Amino acid sequence: MKKQIPISQPSLTDHERRELLAAFDSGWISGVASSPYVQKFEAALSKRINRKYVLAVSNGTVALEVALRALGVGPHDDVIVPAFTFISPAAVVRQIGARPIFVDVDPVSWTLDPQEVKRKLTPKVKAVVAVDTIGHPADYDALKFLEAYRVLLVEDAAEAHGAQYRKRLTGSFGAVSTFSMFVNKGVTAGEGGAVLTHHDQLAAHMRMMINHGMPAGKGYYHEIVGMNGRMNSLSAAIGAAQMDRWDELLKKREQVGRWYDELLPDGVGKRPVAPWAKPITWLYTILTRERDRLQAALAEAGVETRPVFTTIPLLPIYADGSVYPNSELISKTGLFLPTYADLSREDVEYICDVLRKAI
Ligand SMILES: *Cc1c(COP(=O)(O)O)cnc(C)c1O
Repeated sequence: MKKQIPISQPSLTDHERRELLAAFDSGWISGVASSPYVQKFEAALSKRINRKYVLAVSNGTVALEVALRALGVGPHDDVIVPAFTFISPAAVVRQIGARPIFVDVDPVSWTLDPQEVKRKLTPKVKAVVAVDTIGHPADYDALKFLEAYRVLLVEDAAEAHGAQYRKRLTGSFGAVSTFSMFVNKGVTAGEGGAVLTHHDQLAAHMRMMINHGMPAGKGYYHEIVGMNGRMNSLSAAIGAAQMDRWDELLKKREQVGRWYDELLPDGVGKRPVAPWAKPITWLYTILTRERDRLQAALAEAGVETRPVFTTIPLLPIYADGSVYPNSELISKTGLFLPTYADLSREDVEYICDVLRKAI
């Protein structure tokens, strides 16, 4: 039988199954803050990342929206976002009526280039969304100058569960940090996300915001304009079970990354790593000038791959007329290979063999 290797798949065990059914059987299927499944997920992530407040939300995109709205970002504000990343930061900035200001990424870290951030800073810039792109942390020390300008920092750690910046875990930086628990992320709830902060008032404000603008215990009293941004208990139950397996899931992904490092043929580029970073393997990325041909050869052999993110300001609806040389080079040459905790060495060998023959 022909091999079929997907680009991503969740690692689900009896543990997730038991927790999911326990939530179902208990009748806790909504996402209200009093749900023990929501609380369990939030407590586990709070403990793991060492942030005082964690709020489970419906996905990583809503997490960014809640973060930016809670920080007071709105129409007439500019927000700096990376030119190379998944679309959410830019889309959310537009959704809330603000303007994304794109900044090129550093050629090594593939995250916001701090010099470029400085160059594009104006009094209109209210916040910066730093993304820990494809498992690699942004350069947070080099972004500290933002404090002097009173520019707020949001960390989007959606692709970097367990990565470290100078020994500190991603997801612990910025006034608010966010995670996604989408099915292809390092730790998943199927659909889901989280906002994290140390600030009491921000946490209370965000809790209200995701619950229709209602403070707890005041009935149908809506203190702010809110939304429904909650994670439901069924997702939270899966997410909490995955949190129990955090170390295992991370270790397995790291192993997959090491197998690729070892077995990839000469002639494909590997992603660079900054000296201050301990990245995680999210989607293993190769660099090649022959991307279409290699992707076709892999597809022919039953291996699903995907070109990396488009440089966002090259998309017509985000175009700004500028060039982003580092982002554009990565966008043009980067290819995501299958990466998930349960991927076997045998499959990595197979994928690397297909690549070797194609080259
Ligand atoms: C996946 C992802 C998101 C969005 O998460 P969803 O849960 O899919 O909404 C946001 N930012 C980055 C960097 C991501 O990779």
